Amino acid sequence: MKTSIFLICFLLYCPSVFATNIVKSDRIYTYEQMQFDIQKLKETYERELEVTVIGQSYYGNDIPAIQIGKGKKNVVLIGAHHGREWLTSSLLMGMLENYVGAFSTGAKVGPFDSNMLNDVSIWFVPMLNPDGVKIQQRDIPLVFVDQLFLMNEGEINFSRWKANGMGIDLNRQYPAGWRELRGPHTPTYQFYKGNRPFEALETQALAAFIDKIQPSIAVAYHSTGQEIYWKYKNGKYEQRDYSIAKEIAQLTGYKLGKPPKKATGGGFTDWFITTYRRPALTIEICPPMVNRAPPLSSFPEVWKRNQYVGMKLVNEVLELHKSEGKMEK
Ligand SMILES: [Zn+2]
Repeated sequence: MKTSIFLICFLLYCPSVFATNIVKSDRIYTYEQMQFDIQKLKETYERELEVTVIGQSYYGNDIPAIQIGKGKKNVVLIGAHHGREWLTSSLLMGMLENYVGAFSTGAKVGPFDSNMLNDVSIWFVPMLNPDGVKIQQRDIPLVFVDQLFLMNEGEINFSRWKANGMGIDLNRQYPAGWRELRGPHTPTYQFYKGNRPFEALETQALAAFIDKIQPSIAVAYHSTGQEIYWKYKNGKYEQRDYSIAKEIAQLTGYKLGKPPKKATGGGFTDWFITTYRRPALTIEICPPMVNRAPPLSSFPEVWKRNQYVGMKLVNEVLELHKSEGKMEK
């Protein structure tokens, strides 16, 4: 409780300007810009960063993942499952730059000690759906134009595009309640769950990556609703997962989402929770909006609320292992 009060006071009075040199938050964040920024960060922080490619999208774009820290245990933060939600990519890239800068000098990240990253790493997957982001930003490969036009129901405006390049909604692709999911039966700009779970290359790549790194906590960033979802058949771990979600709700000021009576499922965090029996959060960063991308003007508030989430979760992993250690004795 004391820590929370301290944290709230700190957040109220701390300067929280987005002060990164490489990642820019005041513009539409493209896939190319992200790749350029990752390259620059790697050149600047050669020893502190590990960059890898977890797979390719339907259009053949590499999906990068970046690790900071030396810890064997880790937290994973995933952005842009959905094309129109690329603001989550600039948010994660901003966190990455801030954290790695602090880690390279041993400085603090807000109230958090960056040396914790020696024990617990953070993996960033800032843009899981590069094709969807490109489509939303009207950077469409000519060969796919006709097909995409049909999937967009004849609309010439692609700003509402949520799916991947095949017209599959990547956050309706996971085998956790997938069968019960309702929605369109053919590829389209949003909500089509695919013919089978893990049909999309992007979700296949993410699942293989998650299986390899075995995160202690996973977060998928989305953008509609200023809410945190954490509950999906958590079973005997419900209390543990609830208390982590509550901490993040306090830190960000987002409310804890109440799942519908019959939880919908099919999402990344639903799958992570039920497969690994570890906590996962879906964090929705912006107020509700219909069929469009969050405006750039929402970034400063999003940054203020979320800038410490990665470090806070690293701290949560350390606490979890401490309490597990105690239980073993
Ligand atoms: Zn989303």
